[in-house]
Amino acid sequence: MRLAYLVIVMLNLLALGVRAGESMQLTLRSRDNSADGKPSEKKTVWDAKKTVLIICDMWDDHWCKGAASRVVEMAPAFNDMVNAARKKGVFIVHAPSSVTSFYKDTPQRKLAQAAPHAKTPVELTKDERWGTNWYWPDGKREKPLPIDDSDMGCDCTQKCAIREAWTRQISLIQIAPEDAITDNGQETWNLLAERGIDNVILCGVHLNMCVLGRPFGIRQMVTLGKNVALVRDMTDTMYNHQRPPGVDHFAGTELVIEHVEKYWCPTFTSSDITESAAFKFKGAK
Ligand SMILES: [Zn+2]
Repeated sequence: MRLAYLVIVMLNLLALGVRAGESMQLTLRSRDNSADGKPSEKKTVWDAKKTVLIICDMWDDHWCKGAASRVVEMAPAFNDMVNAARKKGVFIVHAPSSVTSFYKDTPQRKLAQAAPHAKTPVELTKDERWGTNWYWPDGKREKPLPIDDSDMGCDCTQKCAIREAWTRQISLIQIAPEDAITDNGQETWNLLAERGIDNVILCGVHLNMCVLGRPFGIRQMVTLGKNVALVRDMTDTMYNHQRPPGVDHFAGTELVIEHVEKYWCPTFTSSDITESAAFKFKGAK
């Protein structure tokens, strides 16, 4: 009897622990923004309940076949990370830009729309690009990107034609009842305000474009005053290795990660959430 009682008490405590949110130990890497950009690491603890993980543009397809196949390759490990974060109590926002209407009748989309309006400390970016507001590179804060993506970055041998390719988020990433779906900067802000969330984890694709520039992306979240961090093994770039600086695709991604660490926010690997090895693309050296 006494043992059964103890077990019940312990189970209740465990359940409470999950509800209260765990603390997450993160090893954040940043760089000084001088030319040599020396990296430094700092251990920090974030309260999972005050943290959101925003999944940027992990679409079901892409006009670039190579980009689409890298998303498919990354998705299972990506989903493991999302599930592990949610289990710790992190709030999950799925942000498949320009195709949230696919989810218009879902409770997760309605949750984002129903969050009460909260005023942002600075005005949200209003520039338009690719159908959403866009936070352009900030010349006062950052140097030009270290890769040339002016050709839109298809790295395939046979170049892909730009077309409307995506219709929804890739189905390999699970959406739980308590998650939200939005690609809108104000809705994202409202959701965070409602939950008292200070910490923003960004992950998804593509780092040189959407992850930095979207209205829920790194530049906007940093300027809104959030503690922002990028999961550096759960991202990719649109970078054609034939363009400057002429390094291979994955080395190009590493350079953009360094750029983020110098000028915008620290990064960490998914190991800090999953406690298993960080993700690596098969083609990465
Ligand atoms: Zn391509």
